[in-house]
Amino acid sequence: MAGEKILVVESAPDVRDFIVHRILLPNGYVPLTATDGAAALACLRQAGPGLVIAEARAPDLSGLALAGLLQQDDLDIPVILMAADWPPDLARDAMRAGVADCLLEPLDEALLTEAVGHALEVASGRRWRAHQRAQRQGTGNARMEQLEVVERLTRLAREMAAVLDVDQMLATVVQMAVNLVEADEGAIMLYEATTQTLVTRAARNFDDPTAQNCRTPSEDPLAMQVFTTGQPLLLDSAALQRRPAAHPLVHALIYVPLQSRAHLIGVVRVDNHRPDRPLTAYHQRLLQTLADYAAIALDNAFRYARTEVERAQLENILNEMVDGVVAVDFNQRLLLVNSSARAILQIKPPDVAGRSLEEVIENPDVRAFLKGENQRGEIKLDDGRVFNAHSTFIAEVGRVLVMQDITTLKELDRIKSDFVNTVSHDLRSPLTAILGYVELIKRVGPITDQQAEFVQRIQFGVQSITTLITDLLDLGRIEAGFDAQKEVTHLATVIEYSIEGVRAQADFKHQKLDFHLIQPVPQMLGNPPRLRQMVSNLLGNAIKYTPDGGRISVEAKTDGNAIVITVSDTGMGIPPADLPYIFNKFYRASNSRDKYEGTGLGLSIVKSIVENHGGRIWVDSKLDEGATFTVILPQYNGPDAPQPPY
Ligand code: ADP
Repeated sequence: MAGEKILVVESAPDVRDFIVHRILLPNGYVPLTATDGAAALACLRQAGPGLVIAEARAPDLSGLALAGLLQQDDLDIPVILMAADWPPDLARDAMRAGVADCLLEPLDEALLTEAVGHALEVASGRRWRAHQRAQRQGTGNARMEQLEVVERLTRLAREMAAVLDVDQMLATVVQMAVNLVEADEGAIMLYEATTQTLVTRAARNFDDPTAQNCRTPSEDPLAMQVFTTGQPLLLDSAALQRRPAAHPLVHALIYVPLQSRAHLIGVVRVDNHRPDRPLTAYHQRLLQTLADYAAIALDNAFRYARTEVERAQLENILNEMVDGVVAVDFNQRLLLVNSSARAILQIKPPDVAGRSLEEVIENPDVRAFLKGENQRGEIKLDDGRVFNAHSTFIAEVGRVLVMQDITTLKELDRIKSDFVNTVSHDLRSPLTAILGYVELIKRVGPITDQQAEFVQRIQFGVQSITTLITDLLDLGRIEAGFDAQKEVTHLATVIEYSIEGVRAQADFKHQKLDFHLIQPVPQMLGNPPRLRQMVSNLLGNAIKYTPDGGRISVEAKTDGNAIVITVSDTGMGIPPADLPYIFNKFYRASNSRDKYEGTGLGLSIVKSIVENHGGRIWVDSKLDEGATFTVILPQYNGPDAPQPPY
């Protein structure tokens, strides 16, 4: 290793010269010489040689002692000792002192040259390995530090994610920011769109150890600059000295933007008041990472807060609703019972969410609705109250029942029906008397032709009123459900009886009236007189609204589980504009109003009867070509009934 400095500690000039001139210089080493111990130590301190060649025994500081000192100070400088003899004690001490080589005097040139080369090489290898070790250690330490920072940030992110209250979150973030970069102060400012300003929402001040929530408009132009540009800002003491008025006590300052899903939402600021704790680009990056985590966590907290407000509003609306609302999940466990439902169903326990339907609600009708057995209908309570109930299936939730109190409406309806019934009934008696006396007029003596015509008109008018009253009474009875009793009925027989009842009218108008039983019609559960009234009304209309010589046909067939009856005619038909209203009470189509007598109640009665039997009715018609009324009724699948004598 040419160029290496080698210290020769030797009092004898001839030996010194031999070493310097015969060995060191020719081999390219840089010789340093000392004649005594003091000079040797001084040279060691100042010149830092790579090897020492010294006398093993010297009067003031022996080479052996020098080697011991170097070892003691942990200085990796190899030592070659020279001695005229090497008794075992001296050789052992030399080895213990870590001497590189022991040479016998007089010195052999080749041996010394080789010893010098070897000692330098060994020392160099040792130093290199030590250096590698140190480097490895150094890299490991840096990695460990990085890992610690990552762990710390992850921990902070986890802590943030656990906070859902916005104010608490803001104070937490400020505290974390200050702790993370070991700052003295910190603040978080959020942008308010309404005022277009940054508002300080949490701050930790120099003399206050914890961050506090606040809501003060920020007048910091640097914060606004960072918010507008989206670029972080680091001001060290040199930069701050150029603007002392703005931050007189601050020695270092960092602003980082808070950005959530591509939107800037605010700025985080930290600063230090002490010159011995500078804030660097490293701190800025740390703070930015924290701010990025914080922005996500804040966004979640804001969303949670909004959801909470909406949830509370919804809960208030549901609770303040007059209608009762009950919701169950798919396992019939209660999800919600609002205040009205509690009052209606007299539910006492305060918290019923999660409990089973059967355990909490006794009313069998309510249970049936919540199980989906009924979807629309009425619920009658023991105390006489009646509720209109509607149960709806909601995907991923379960079933919701809404109950409206219709007790008053029911009562009004009952009063109305009573009134109509009473009035109709009371009107019918005097009308019967009028009709009787009008009949008698002709019998008690001769009347003029004009008087006879008047009498006929009176008879006709009274007849019309009687029909109207009868229809009204019928409709009242059907709607009130007075004819609710049902029995197993042969519909084909009912139709045949109805046809026989109107055949005379059809014959009178020379109309062809026939009945096709397309398939054998099964039995149904029904009220035979009302079913007969239904068919008769349809046939009566067909005859009435079909001109002389027309054709009326009735068909019955089975379709799946239903019985389908159609009554068709070749009459005047119904104008398309009137079709949607034809089943309304008192409605009469525009083409029949002035030409035919009628009350406009016949089809309302038919529709009520059909619906009372769980069926549906509709009409198809083309003007001047005829009309077809179709009725669908459910068939009965129970045991057979005897043929009734209708
Ligand atoms: P109305 O006593 O007037 O016959 P309905 O309620 O029985 O009352 O019928 C309502 C209206 O429907 C009738 O006024 C008539 O305009 C129309 N309509 C009913 N049946 C037929 C039909 N077969 N052909 C044509 N129009 C009909």
